[in-house]
Formats: sequence, C-alpha cells, structure tokens
Amino acid sequence: MKELSDELAAKIVNAVLEERCASEEGMRRYRPLLEERAHRIVERLIVGAGEDSGSNNDSPNQIHTLFNVADTIVKDELGSHHYPKPACPDDGGCAMCCTHMRIVLSVQEAAVIAKELLKLTEPEKAEIAHRLPSLGESGPGSRCALLDEQGLCTLYAARPINCRTYRSCSITACEDRVRLGRNAGEEVVFTYPFDDLVRKSFHHVVGPSETPHFLEMNTFLASVLHDDEGLAAWASGQLERENEEKTGRK
Ligand code: SF4
Ligand code: SF4
Repeated sequence: MKELSDELAAKIVNAVLEERCASEEGMRRYRPLLEERAHRIVERLIVGAGEDSGSNNDSPNQIHTLFNVADTIVKDELGSHHYPKPACPDDGGCAMCCTHMRIVLSVQEAAVIAKELLKLTEPEKAEIAHRLPSLGESGPGSRCALLDEQGLCTLYAARPINCRTYRSCSITACEDRVRLGRNAGEEVVFTYPFDDLVRKSFHHVVGPSETPHFLEMNTFLASVLHDDEGLAAWASGQLERENEEKTGRK
C-alpha cells in the first residue's frame, strides 16, 4: 500500500508541476512544497477514501463521500498553520472566481449536478438558463450560470471539486486574473500547495484513466437545461457511462 501511495503521489506531483509551472525555475521552487504535502493527501483521498468508496457502486454517493473527504482535507490543510490565511472571506461575499474561472467537471460530477438539477422547479431551472452566457461568450472568463444574483452558488453542496479546493492567498492576484485574463505573476505566490493535489487525487479515484474526460460547466448546463430526457439520462448515470466508454475507460 505504501508503494502504491508513493507511486501515485509522485505521478500526481509531476502532473501538477507540468500543468502549473511554465518554467524550470517555477518547478524547482514548487516541487518541495508539493512533495511535502502529496503523500498525506494521496493516502487520505486515494488509498483511504478510494478503498471505502470502491465497494460502493452508486456513483453519486461515492462522489459525495469523496467530496466530504476532500472538504475535510482542505479544512485541515488550511488549519495546519503551514500557510498564509486565505483571502477568501469565510462567509462567502467574494465570488469573483465564479465569474472568471473556467469551471470544468468530470463526467461523474456532471451526473451529480444533473441529479440536483432534476430536483429544481421549472422556474428555478429557467433562472439558471437565463444566466447562461450566449454562444461564443462561454468558456474561460465567463460567469458560471449557477452563481445567483446574490452571489451564491445555486447547487453549493454539489459544486465540483475545482470549486471546493480553490482558495487564494491574495485578492489582488484574483483581481489581476480577472483584469488580465491570466496570472500576473508566478502561480505559486497566491495559490496553495494542496489544491491541485486534492483535485488530481479526487479525479484519480472517480476515474483512474490516463485521459480523464472533462466538461465545461456552462456548456454542460446549456446542453441539459432544456432537455428533460438528457437530464434524466445524466442523472441516472447512463450518459456518464457512455462518455466513459467513448474515452475508452470501461
Ligand atoms: S479565490 Fe479569489 S476570487 Fe475566489 S473567493 Fe477567494 S479571494 Fe475571492
Ligand atoms: S459551481 Fe458554484 S461554486 Fe462553482 S463556479 Fe459555479 S457558482 Fe461558483
């Protein structure tokens, strides 16, 4: 088990570095921070929760179990005093990231969102549909349609792992990101060395594939909000399985 954990931790650290650091210098600075945290996170999320939830064939329930574990890991990491306090207010009140991040979710998380959408009334679904950006304005930099007019997430308990782990040490860096559409400086200065580790570990458990399949939130919402049959198919797990088959996972 230790070997599995070491191997996965190394793989996940390398994947994060590849994605997050454009320069050798960034990698050199960031690697020790990631390596220091990776083993504990991988053990808790992949080895621990993955084994428990592996016997649970009900995908939405498995995902909720993993969401809970991931939330606890994020809370513990932030409470461990290894890091500067997040700039994100505890009581919400800042939802800037919901207006400029590219929100991606795995097909398994999409099934969870679909299940929650099915519980909404038609007027509630229409409100979400009304907030969808028009074609061509979707994608990076567009506001998530689940963000309501009060700045709250309509499906907070079912929000994807990307939203659950995203924290910033600097609100100025977030503002730069909104203003410039990219990071003004090295990413390492304002994010934490655990968020990507948690995300990648989570995605490894829900879909241990070399090429995981992700959807963009607004595009997904646009495809299901006016299609009751499609929504029901997603909620039942049918389209999740089809997407997995297309990507050669099963
Ligand atoms: S990550 Fe940045 S934009 Fe998002 S809530 Fe925190 S401070 Fe606000
Ligand atoms: S799903 Fe919720 S938390 Fe995530 S970006 Fe949308 S509104 Fe924000």
